[in-house]
Amino acid sequence: MTGLRSGSATDVGRRRNLNQDMILEAHPIFAVADGMGGHQGGEVASLTAIEALRDAFRREAGADGLEQAITAANTAVAEKARSSADLRGMGTTLAVVALVADGDDDELLAVANIGDSRIYLMRNGELTQLTDDHSLPQELLRQGQLTEAEAAVDPRRNIVTRVLGPSFGEGPDMQNLIPYAGDRIVICSDGLYNEVTDRDIATVLRTIADPKEAARRLVDEANANGGADNISVVVVDVVDDAGRAETASEVLADDPRPARRASALMTADERNAELRELGRNEGGAGGAGGGASTRARSETWESDAEPDVHEMPSRRVTGRVIAFLLVLLLVLGGAAAAIGFYARGSYYVGLDDGYVAIFRGRPGGLLWFQPTVEETSKLTQSAVPDAYADAVAEGHEVTSRADAERYLANLVDTANPSPPAATTSTTTAVPPDTTPTTAATPTSTP
Ligand code: MN
Repeated sequence: MTGLRSGSATDVGRRRNLNQDMILEAHPIFAVADGMGGHQGGEVASLTAIEALRDAFRREAGADGLEQAITAANTAVAEKARSSADLRGMGTTLAVVALVADGDDDELLAVANIGDSRIYLMRNGELTQLTDDHSLPQELLRQGQLTEAEAAVDPRRNIVTRVLGPSFGEGPDMQNLIPYAGDRIVICSDGLYNEVTDRDIATVLRTIADPKEAARRLVDEANANGGADNISVVVVDVVDDAGRAETASEVLADDPRPARRASALMTADERNAELRELGRNEGGAGGAGGGASTRARSETWESDAEPDVHEMPSRRVTGRVIAFLLVLLLVLGGAAAAIGFYARGSYYVGLDDGYVAIFRGRPGGLLWFQPTVEETSKLTQSAVPDAYADAVAEGHEVTSRADAERYLANLVDTANPSPPAATTSTTTAVPPDTTPTTAATPTSTP
């Protein structure tokens, strides 16, 4: 039995209006998705991927199940992208860690990545990046065309070479990791590592024991350094490895040959590297992906068409005045209708009297249009996973009622993960916090 403990945080950052990242913290599976695409495409892509991943993995766990689940997530994102012009071309990264069975009575951590989100391992105080970024400079680095220093500052690092949706390519890189007590795993979006150096990430992981607090601190540091992008962090700690580490030490202690023992003890770090190598599937490291289609991450916001301007004929002064008043009325009426459409034409997930609810309208209302409660859930504010607490308190906006329901379902699932069959867990997202955070509760009267 492997015991895991986790914590997470996600934040819009300081420059963006929308958080297009999505995190999954549902023991035994943890993930970060970083969506991209104009309008709300990025948000829809990351949410679609996380839901499809979670549902498919629930149907079939295991390392093979995980790879299939990621393929299913890719299909879900691609299909959704085809369903609407606004969503065309949307995509998302996906970085996943899942505890899976290894034979009858052992367990492994399956590690999967596609895109430029990252997974790090902190073991014996050393931080290692487990995943390769599927970004243009990193591909060029692997092909020997750029140095590491050049790749780190290359302006093309926002070009991803492989993502779910438009360019799945050879799919995710997969590897397995033997979990040892004391291991800390960090899954994060590029909003973290573009702002916080590996050294500073390691310092936070060494100094803050609680995974939730560590995740929050990492997000805070990224914001303090500029917060140019959405920031998401999931920290997963291995708190119990079923005596695996102890057994390993006993084997070493029983070994009568001192030389071998010494070398075995010395190679703790090398062994990690070796495990990494062993765990890598042969399909993962295809370096010659030069022909892969690339996709800029930059947003493409389509500007609205210019409104038509009508000129009224003017014969006499009174005619002109009447015409002007008519136009004015039309314009005002049109504006009121447009504002009404905007104010009432969307949904958000927010708080109604301490319970998470689906609202129609805009958080806080707009002019005389107040949001109305469409559906109240049994999820209390204090049970909302911390990573979503701020978003829900402020009101998380979505484009449709269906998206609101899916967002709410994801919240409920994350708040009450189904109990794992063969593992013990102390996921910190589960127990409700007794101190509710303050929130601007939107009024629900029309
Ligand atoms: Mn990002």
